[in-house]
Amino acid sequence: MSEELAGLKEHYMRCVRCGQCRSVCPVFREIRNETVSPRGKIFLAHLLSSGEAKVNNEAASLLSQCLLCRACSVECPSAIPVHEIVTAARSLAAKKLPSPLKSLLHRKIWSSPARLNFSVSLFRHCQGLLKPAATLNLLPPALSLPGRLPRRPARPSIPGQTPASGKAKMRVGYFLGCSTNYLFPGIARSTVAVLARLGCEVVLPQELKCCGLPQLAAGEDKTAAHMASANLEAFRRLNVKVVVSDCASCTATLKESFPQNGSNGIKVLDLSELLAVLTEGNELKFKTINRVVTYHDPCHLANAQSITAAPRNLLRRICTEFREMPGAAECCGGGGSFVLHHYGTGMAILNKKILNLKKTGAETVATSCPNCIMQLRHGLLKHGSGTEVVSVVQLLAESLEITF
Ligand code: SF4
Ligand code: SF4
Repeated sequence: MSEELAGLKEHYMRCVRCGQCRSVCPVFREIRNETVSPRGKIFLAHLLSSGEAKVNNEAASLLSQCLLCRACSVECPSAIPVHEIVTAARSLAAKKLPSPLKSLLHRKIWSSPARLNFSVSLFRHCQGLLKPAATLNLLPPALSLPGRLPRRPARPSIPGQTPASGKAKMRVGYFLGCSTNYLFPGIARSTVAVLARLGCEVVLPQELKCCGLPQLAAGEDKTAAHMASANLEAFRRLNVKVVVSDCASCTATLKESFPQNGSNGIKVLDLSELLAVLTEGNELKFKTINRVVTYHDPCHLANAQSITAAPRNLLRRICTEFREMPGAAECCGGGGSFVLHHYGTGMAILNKKILNLKKTGAETVATSCPNCIMQLRHGLLKHGSGTEVVSVVQLLAESLEITF
């Protein structure tokens, strides 16, 4: 029995093969093959852990066909945490089939903010050089997902400490995730400015690392644990008791990796949760934004944190009209690095989302995860749509008439 899967035996033995998980799995819906269904992956994990199947490239490939969206874990009547079983099986596969390239990426580059900065900057320069090849569609299509990277990440433009406007109601640590930092610096600036306007002193530690989700998803759980403890210490050194992030994937990961209770605990809140508290009964003037808006539920917010009402309530309050999107809680097909490895499947899932989005007739789609924003923008661009995709906090900044 492998160390990774030993603790999960009890879970997968409870699978009654009812197939309910298949009906909500976006990957199974596209591929229609039992081996990639949630219960198929549980069975595969069982075979791998008992030694009845070998950890080989075929098994690793099947395990990679999962968005870690958790729709199956939420749906399962036996409450089996399928996503945890997949993650544990990937960890086993990463140990048995070591990849020098993945190790370099996750252990040496992504775990070091300085090396990650350098690599992203290098990638940005290459984007410029490779533009002619990209225009002629000579590059792998997944490389076009982030679009042209912003010239500068958010980090250098945000002070280590931002005072509250007026009397401080609370002090919060801001976890600036990689996607917000490198892809959407405007979201980071909106988050800090909105929190300050709503009465928060915002603290951003200098030495934060990635939240560790890409490493967990790649089976590099030890690297992820090391990064989580470094982040925890960075906040503790500044005596931060509450941490918030504008990235649902980061908050879902931090809630599971930071101790949440006890004297050593640090409370992690998704920005949607904190904004709901801070805007409730707030006397500030919120200008109504003259826009028809809809909302996409990030899997890591709706499935992992059960947060669905707070962002909708806020949008209803600050926009002239809110329209519910059919299938709003269905995955957009991004799944972090999933879409890089399985671009075709990711795009098939995304197409359904874009068609549902178009049915609303909304001019703007808001969401609470920078990775979803990247994926939705890519899909809308492919469909030739002019619908705007923004973070909820950017609309709130507009409503509070915050300018940069
Ligand atoms: S829903 Fe749960 S019990 Fe049913 S097949 Fe899927 S994992 Fe097994
Ligand atoms: S986590 Fe999502 S993609 Fe993975 S098996 Fe479950 S439903 Fe399918």
